[in-house]
Amino acid sequence: MKTFFLTGLLSIISIITLGQSTNTNMSNNIEKTEQQWANELNPEKYQILRKCSTEPPFTGKYVNHKEDGFYYCAGCGTKLFSSDSKYDSGSGWPSFYAKADSANIIEIIDKTHGMIRTEIKCANCGGHLGHLFNDGPKPTGMRYCVNSASLEFGE
Ligand code: FE
Repeated sequence: MKTFFLTGLLSIISIITLGQSTNTNMSNNIEKTEQQWANELNPEKYQILRKCSTEPPFTGKYVNHKEDGFYYCAGCGTKLFSSDSKYDSGSGWPSFYAKADSANIIEIIDKTHGMIRTEIKCANCGGHLGHLFNDGPKPTGMRYCVNSASLEFGE
């Protein structure tokens, strides 16, 4: 009877623990609580990466950035875009017509704000990057519209 009780208790504890890790680990490989993210990111990056906020157009540091290199996730350092695919969309946000590595960005249907859009997220940490539109230039015809705050430029 004692063993039965103990096994039951352990099952309940593992169910609670599983539930918690699902909450803090949506579609990504990094397990961090919201409090940890809030402590590690500055307020702007936290609001955009973790709360799906958007920086005002023409305000981000990479809108007119033209150096050769790569753009990495500001939340976890995953390589997201190459400067080779960056172009001036006129939108006021850094825009790319292709991903650097298709496995590193996931696409999710976003029905908020009365629109149906495709949200793009970092596949590794689940950080919000921006949205994907089909009005981009050749060769893909796609526009990855990304918040500067979600990116860190590097070599
Ligand atoms: Fe990330």
